[in-house]
Amino acid sequence: MAKHVETQADCIFCKIIAGQVPSSRVYEDDDVLAFMDINPVTKGHTLVVPKAHHRDQLDTPPAVLAALAERIPKVAAAVLKATQADGFNVFQFNGTAAGQVVFHIHYHIIPRHLGDNAFAPWRHTQYDEGEIQRLAEQIRGNLRP
Ligand code: AMP
Ligand code: ZN
Repeated sequence: MAKHVETQADCIFCKIIAGQVPSSRVYEDDDVLAFMDINPVTKGHTLVVPKAHHRDQLDTPPAVLAALAERIPKVAAAVLKATQADGFNVFQFNGTAAGQVVFHIHYHIIPRHLGDNAFAPWRHTQYDEGEIQRLAEQIRGNLRP
């Protein structure tokens, strides 16, 4: 029997999962769907999504995250083979500030070729004196049960 999957009416990825919006599917099982990103950063850019609607990493149950983590390398290996890429990035954005546009959790698999300059390099910054210790202590405090 097909599993019941939570969907959200105005979500483009829920519509893709339901087959109401066309997509180029590359992998599917009971819990996870992978399909081609319609505006690829590089050719072969693929999205991996849970079939159930969850907004982001904090909203997604651990079992669903585990299912995604298990499928990502399999899909990535197939993308790499098809594109003859030298490597790949896995990205996942949480919140508008982080660049999330579609609020149905998804992982980007982006094939990379040496020297493709697909992304500007990250800008690294520095801490002020004592700031790294203070921030680490705050984070440790937040993680204490
Ligand atoms: P994000 O910024 O992580 O929310 O990324 C959303 C991604 O979804 C973008 O890379 C879009 O190109 C992609 N996207 C949006 N609509 C569609 C669609 N109908 N089919 C395939 N990919 C889509
Ligand atoms: Zn959705």
